[in-house]
Amino acid sequence: MKYANSVLDLIGNTPLVKLNKVTEGIAATVLAKVEYFNPGGSIKDRIAVKMIEEAEKDGRLKPGGTVIEPTSGNTGVGLALVAQQKGYKSIFVTPDKVGLEKRDVLKAYGADVVVTPTSVAPDSPESYYGVSDRLVTEVDGGYKPDQFNNPAAPASHYETTGPEIWRDTDGKVTHVVIGAGTGGTITGTGRYLKEISADRPGGPVKIIGADPAGSVYSGGTGRPYFVEGVGEDMWPDNYDKSVPDEVLAVNDAEAFAMTRRLAQEEGLLVGGSSGMAVVAALNVAKDLGPDDIVVVILPDSGRGYLGKIFNDEWMKSYGFIAGGEETTVGEVLQ
Ligand code: PMP
Repeated sequence: MKYANSVLDLIGNTPLVKLNKVTEGIAATVLAKVEYFNPGGSIKDRIAVKMIEEAEKDGRLKPGGTVIEPTSGNTGVGLALVAQQKGYKSIFVTPDKVGLEKRDVLKAYGADVVVTPTSVAPDSPESYYGVSDRLVTEVDGGYKPDQFNNPAAPASHYETTGPEIWRDTDGKVTHVVIGAGTGGTITGTGRYLKEISADRPGGPVKIIGADPAGSVYSGGTGRPYFVEGVGEDMWPDNYDKSVPDEVLAVNDAEAFAMTRRLAQEEGLLVGGSSGMAVVAALNVAKDLGPDDIVVVILPDSGRGYLGKIFNDEWMKSYGFIAGGEETTVGEVLQ
């Protein structure tokens, strides 16, 4: 019989698939690592299990404890799933601008969701950071993983994502392209791959960051962009600047157009940060030769973006496809 002992054993070991259509005219092989195969539907399951297991080990999380994190996205799903399987409660704090569907996903896993007003300063006690900090002290056995600063996040990628890429390419990978949000993926995966390939005759694996135009990682100031899960307006502890060899900026329109092409031409229904990473990967790959192997990480599924990237009206209303009145990002985010 072949089965997993629990859904936790299904985290990681995601497949690589060759991109065949969007790579037309490119000599290098471009392989996508498809993270929606994780049970929670994203790459964030990997950090969730590692952050919780480390906290169990050093006693920050005790039996009967509660995991509390300010997140509404993929990290929340990963944490809700892992907490539930290990017998912990979970509470997520999200600003009210976050769509009902995202909150409902967390509730479906049995988590509690606390909604805070969007229109307050980040350092206000009413903000979602403020409320989550208060809950951690007020809730008995409360533990906040803090994905931006928790070293277990990059460590999970150092121990799983990086070695999987090395193993599945028989050590032949030449370039890896990764979008950065908290920075955990690029730091952990990149560090492992650079170390393991350091003395390789062809030289170490090159690590290329993909970043929304305007974010600090590619030299911006944190100007708003629509692609979700990536880019920052500050430098988190988990982003190690020394890991990427270069960081390429990608704008929303290019990222979303590629996200749609991946669904339509490659059969990969993925999110906007995946489209963004593929734009950067193709920019890298176009200058490479037939012996080069580029791996690009696709962090999550497109299901969560059906009302946005895959919706013509939404795309038109922001000028990402022709036919709508253009609205600037600044206007929308107010
Ligand atoms: N894409 C999506 C959709 C994400 O949710 C995240 C996590 N914020 C990332 C990319 C980036 O991963 P990391 O936080 O490890 O940099």
